[in-house]
Amino acid sequence: MNESVLFPTYQRFPFAIESGQGVHLTDNHGQTYLDFTAGIGVCNFGYQDAAIQAAVSDQLTKIWHTSNLYENQLQTAVATLLVQGEDRCVFFANSGTEANEAALKLARKYTGKRDILAFNHSFHGRTYGAMSMTGNPHIQAGYAPLVPGMHFADYNDPAAIAQITPDLAAVILEVVQGEGGVFAGDPDWLQAVQQACHDNGVLLMIDEVQSGIGRTGYRLAFEGYGLDPDIYTVAKGLANGIPVGAMVGKKALASAFGPGSHGSTFAGNPLAMAAAKAVLQQLTPDFLATVQAKAANVWTTLQAETAPLPVVTQVTGKGLMIGIHLQASLPVLKVITALHAEKLLTLSAGDNTLRLLPPLVMTDADLQAGLATIKQVLVQLSTEVPAHE
Ligand SMILES: *Cc1c(COP(=O)(O)O)cnc(C)c1O
Repeated sequence: MNESVLFPTYQRFPFAIESGQGVHLTDNHGQTYLDFTAGIGVCNFGYQDAAIQAAVSDQLTKIWHTSNLYENQLQTAVATLLVQGEDRCVFFANSGTEANEAALKLARKYTGKRDILAFNHSFHGRTYGAMSMTGNPHIQAGYAPLVPGMHFADYNDPAAIAQITPDLAAVILEVVQGEGGVFAGDPDWLQAVQQACHDNGVLLMIDEVQSGIGRTGYRLAFEGYGLDPDIYTVAKGLANGIPVGAMVGKKALASAFGPGSHGSTFAGNPLAMAAAKAVLQQLTPDFLATVQAKAANVWTTLQAETAPLPVVTQVTGKGLMIGIHLQASLPVLKVITALHAEKLLTLSAGDNTLRLLPPLVMTDADLQAGLATIKQVLVQLSTEVPAHE
């Protein structure tokens, strides 16, 4: 890729994905892979899901763009499916970072306060506001000055509770940190954060961009923790791959987001809304029960077969959001590359963690086959003599 016309912001693997069917992807060399990535936690219903495909195809023949200056029944339908009868309003965006940007703007405008508490190893996106709330110096490097007023604490650390004071506008967190290493929040700690927010007049904002839309076996991961955030954001899985994001806030906040206060030309795009509607219609309690059942089997195997491997330091996550943490002596990139040869696609996260985000529609058999391949490759690589590195 020496002469690439693309900015080298991504280190790319030397093959291109050209088509997908179900939970399998085929590349430009004709190789077919089992997909443990779902994009990056996006294609939860796999590839060519009949209902989503039909909804988008049908919308394509009607209209694929209108401005946000007119009433929009499709946006209302998706928002209604999202809020599930709760007293909440939705602002549509085009991505996760934009949804978080909307959350940040709403929190400041509604509270009239500036400061935000976020957490180390978090990820909230790449635009200035979201990046400034992201607790990762690598992502912020070279972009100073950042948006002011951002404070950071350690995730799952009881000492963080004391940092939630009345001068904060909001606390933002992921209930399962994704990019930072797939760390699940401690249930008691999350309740303590929520309580401290309530006690101090601070908004609780939960970033569900990666953990939401069924990923952990719940519609939204915070439902599994019994939390009630003032604002939450979703994106990745919402339209199964058509770009979309949404910021969902309590109705009481709506007064701060009047006409002209925020907007987007493309957001709430009809193709994205058609896809999101088909996704949310399929995200039923019955479907979520199948995800929980599959995840339970996956975690049984992870605990019995994967966690005890000498190269594995710990296995973390929740539902079908999984982090296999590796010894520093085995770089995760080497594992991902070795898995390509075994026709399995995986992701990385954090320092040296193999991250698995399979489509939620994957069968038990395919999930178990993928885990067996991962074990086999980890065993193989750990027995290789260091001289081969
Ligand atoms: C991916 C991600 C984002 C950013 O989403 P984009 O669509 O890439 O802007 C924000 N928050 C979390 C938790 C994410 O995983």
